[in-house]
Amino acid sequence: MGAVHEDEIEPRVRQLRKHVLGASDVEGHTRVVDSAGSARLANSALLVGVGRHRLMLRTGRGEDERARTCSRLQRAHSSLYVLLEPAESLPSQPPELLAAVEARRRAAQRLREGTGHERIIARIPKRRALITGVGGQDGSFLAELLLSQGYEVAGIVRRQPSVYASNLGAVLERIELVDADLLDRPSLNRALEETRPHEVFNLAAPSFVPRSWDEPVLTAEFAAVGVTSLLEAIRAVDPDIRFYQASSSEIFGRPLETPQTEETPLSPVTPYGVAKAYGHFIAHSYRDRYGLFACCGILYNHESIRRPLDFLPRKVARAAAAISLGLESTLRLGDLDARRDWGYAPDYVRAMWLMLQQDEPQDYIVASGESRSVRDLVACAFARVGLEFEPHVVSDPAFRRGVAELHDLVGDPNRAREVLGWTPSVTFEELVGILVDAELQSLSHGQAASSA
Ligand code: NDP
Repeated sequence: MGAVHEDEIEPRVRQLRKHVLGASDVEGHTRVVDSAGSARLANSALLVGVGRHRLMLRTGRGEDERARTCSRLQRAHSSLYVLLEPAESLPSQPPELLAAVEARRRAAQRLREGTGHERIIARIPKRRALITGVGGQDGSFLAELLLSQGYEVAGIVRRQPSVYASNLGAVLERIELVDADLLDRPSLNRALEETRPHEVFNLAAPSFVPRSWDEPVLTAEFAAVGVTSLLEAIRAVDPDIRFYQASSSEIFGRPLETPQTEETPLSPVTPYGVAKAYGHFIAHSYRDRYGLFACCGILYNHESIRRPLDFLPRKVARAAAAISLGLESTLRLGDLDARRDWGYAPDYVRAMWLMLQQDEPQDYIVASGESRSVRDLVACAFARVGLEFEPHVVSDPAFRRGVAELHDLVGDPNRAREVLGWTPSVTFEELVGILVDAELQSLSHGQAASSA
């Protein structure tokens, strides 16, 4: 880049000050740099371009400062043009920014091929995401994550917003809720047209597996046909939308190999697993046939206190807490030898987001890679409250799942680790600790309130 005259960039700098950093922050904190300057980029700066010019933004030292400026940049007014340097020339930038910048640089390059521009200049508009099932466990954690990344977030719901207050309380005011029905194409088209997302995360589905035997048709309608309906709407409204499909380890049912990888053949055994297998394959079909950017996350069980008490880890955590407080005496469970691969929900939604930031769409197993028995879960939860579990736990045949009981579901998360750089931050023992502590707190709070 040749010498740059201050006068040429003054209007753009004003725009930058106004829309990105706020007039007060930026005074004296931008300066024009030449190519040598960019090579000297230190730990305390981000390199951006305004129009055809480069600026160095001083951000203050350290990852946190850079991340804050970076997130303000991502929330930039859409008329700000940011010069995207190849990632390798910005060695000290946060990895998420590098990945995002690199992906957008390539997209811009494709768009601008043949225009004769010497440099590639891309616009970074605010990213927008639409989440179906936003009020559920994963939807609510994902909404929080995306907001923290500077996204505008909209969510499809089917009931009054107040129903979702317990999960969405922290962010309810900051997301747009849209009424739409997964089986009603016009309503989906409208939702997409109104919210104009860059990314759609399809999380809506009946998620309690045993119930799918009671509601097999409804399960198929929403978890299978609903996926097609949403893909059709995307194709009609904006085929550039990136699409995430919530696949599940239940598609492997009685698995043909253990641990399972993205290549393991599907062999579901429940109506839920079969419906999810359909959703998985239809997302592949649309990726192959129409070139949609569709990724399936094959997620293994992941938990938090945002799941209802029907789900085993919460049920066990609640019982251990209640028994330790003298509120209950017995926990009835099915097969204590059944095994699962359990993780913590906020870790798993991070993987969903990362999948849509890659250059190419593909599927990923998201799992801890560790197989634990129900007995391990129970022992760990009771140990947390200082009790032996044996005197309190009864294995009741009425809770057994029969042929649908699964023993060998454990995922190999290698691809997610290598391509996405994803690893879980919470171990099995820590997960159980989080659940039990939350139940202890909530029950103790209830006791205190009722005795007041
Ligand atoms: P939740 O049950 O917490 O959330 C599911 C969401 O889907 C809810 O907001 C629910 O809305 C919505 N939903 C359910 N049925 C319908 C329907 N017929 N129409 C519209 N919305 C509907 O599940 P999770 O957040 O745990 O899971 C998210 C997704 O990931 C699901 O698709 C699940 O199958 C899948 N998955 C989950 C795993 C896990 O361990 N958590 C593992 C693997 C996959 P409402 O509140 O109105 O009922």
